[in-house]
Formats: sequence, C-alpha cells, structure tokens
Amino acid sequence: MLRLVVQSKGRLYEQSMNMLKEIGIDIDDSKRKFISCASNFPIEVLYMRDDDIPQIVSAGTASLGIVGLNEVEERGAEGLKVIKKLGFGGCRISLAVPKSADYTGPQYFNGKRIATSYPRILKNYLDRNGIDAKIEVITGSVEVAPAAGIADAIFDIVSSGGTLIANGLKEVEKVFQSEAVLIGNDTIQGEDQEQLDEMLFRIDSAIYSKDKKYLLMNIPANALEKAAKILPSLRSPTIMPLSADGWYSMHSVVKTSEIWEKVRKLKQIGAEGILILNIDKIVL
Ligand code: ATP
Ligand code: MG
Repeated sequence: MLRLVVQSKGRLYEQSMNMLKEIGIDIDDSKRKFISCASNFPIEVLYMRDDDIPQIVSAGTASLGIVGLNEVEERGAEGLKVIKKLGFGGCRISLAVPKSADYTGPQYFNGKRIATSYPRILKNYLDRNGIDAKIEVITGSVEVAPAAGIADAIFDIVSSGGTLIANGLKEVEKVFQSEAVLIGNDTIQGEDQEQLDEMLFRIDSAIYSKDKKYLLMNIPANALEKAAKILPSLRSPTIMPLSADGWYSMHSVVKTSEIWEKVRKLKQIGAEGILILNIDKIVL
C-alpha cells in the first residue's frame, strides 16, 4: 500500500490535507496517531517534521511525501524524485542585507558572514557566482542575526517580505523559488504505481480546475462570432438556441483572473444575463 508522509503541523499541513480531500481521499485525522488510514483509497498517511520528509521517502519508510522543494534541495537525499509541483506553499529563498547597506551586486557578499538554515542551497549559489563568504548556520529566527551581530546578511525564506522589513532588512537576490511538491522514491511499482497514477490524474484535474470559473450568458445572434473570439474554451464554447428568436445561450470555462475583463467585453457586444459559476472539477 502507498504510504504518504506529510508535515505534522506548520504551513504545509493544512494544505496537504486539503489537497487529499480535493482529490477525493478521505483521511480521518481527528484522533490522529502516528499514522492515519484513508477510508476510501489504499493509502496511509504518516506525519513528520518537514525537515525529515526527504530522508523518510529516500529511506523507503514512506513511498511518497509532500514537502517544500526547498527542503528537497537542501537535504538532497538519494533516489528521490520530484513527481509533481502542487501549486501551494509558494515562497522563495533570498539574500537580504541591512536596509542601509550600499548593495551593488552579488560580489557585495565577498568576505561577509551570512546566516541561514539553508547552507547547502546557499553554498551552491556562492560557488556558482565565485563568492567567498562565511556561512553561519542558524536553525531559529535567522532574520534577527544581523541585528544580533551574528552575521552581516541573511539567506532565508521570503513570501511577502514583511518579516524582512520589520527587521530592518532588504531583499537583494532571489536565489531559489519553491513550492510544495509531491516526492517519491523509485520503489513504487505494480498496484502502487496504478494507485499513484490515479492520484496524479486527480491532482492534475484539481490543479487545473482551481483557477477556473464557468461562465454562461445570453447572446444575440449577430454577436456570436465576436463572443466566440472573446471566449476561447476547452475546445470551443457551447452555444444553444433560446426559445426567444435570435438569441443564444453561450457557455464557457474561463480563468478566474480573466473573468472581469471578459465580462466587460461581452457586455459591450450585447451579452445579457451573465452567470459566473464555481466549478468543482474539470477532468481533462
Ligand atoms: P517543522 O516543524 O515541520 O520542521 P518548519 O517550521 O520547518 O516546520 P514551516 O514554517 O511550517 O516549517 O514551513 C514549511 C514549509 O512551508 C517551508 O519549508 C516552505 O517550503 C513553505 N513556506 C511557504 N511560505 C513560507 C513562509 N513565508 N515562511 C516559511 N516557510 C514557507
Ligand atoms: Mg522544518
């Protein structure tokens, strides 16, 4: 049976469990122990600190894991595959320096002390750029290191940048882009592989559906051609005649970010009774 390891608490826990729910895998972790079992899919879920997830999968204790790409890159365990990017938990690891520093480029870091919890990713970056800096490994609050006099700069996770500003720092180099990923080892085969394929099929559909809406409206016959240009659909928009002469109902799937721009254009060409509906899933 497949065994998936997820973060036991923290930023990725809830979204990992949500993703399982989204793809129709029910896990009752209300009376959570070390391992939970799905009631309707052959999979077990194991809970761990995110630092340990790459090794747990690499060692084969679990065949699958959900973890930040940053942890995969930092821990670099043997035999791990990144199977799929999951579209949540987005962040970056950046170099930041005191706000008042006169930063001119990466060579600024020559001879400087940089505090981080990601020494391996940082070392790779420094080597690639021929920079000779001292790496100070800190596991706790890296962002206070410059004020505490432990380091001249930091290399840490940034999502909105608020923590940096609050600590009098500025982001100067975005080094590594991360998001949550599904990882696996190379022992998955046979029935487990079939179950994994089924999961991947459902994940694709969940990711694709996430930022889409269903749009329907009434369109006068003379505007149909223009409307079809505004609304490129999965294949092409659905058009059905209304009982009122010269009017049609038009349906299409639209990216959420493009909805209002399209609605404005459709109204301009005469669309009426526009409905915007949520989509549960799109199966491609
Ligand atoms: P654990 O107790 O499991 O070791 P943690 O404190 O190391 O937890 P979290 O802060 O819960 O880790 O973050 C988990 C992951 O969430 C990070 O490794 C990263 O991939 C992702 N993430 C997304 N946004 C952020 C952010 N703003 N700060 C930190 N991590 C973020
Ligand atoms: Mg951790």
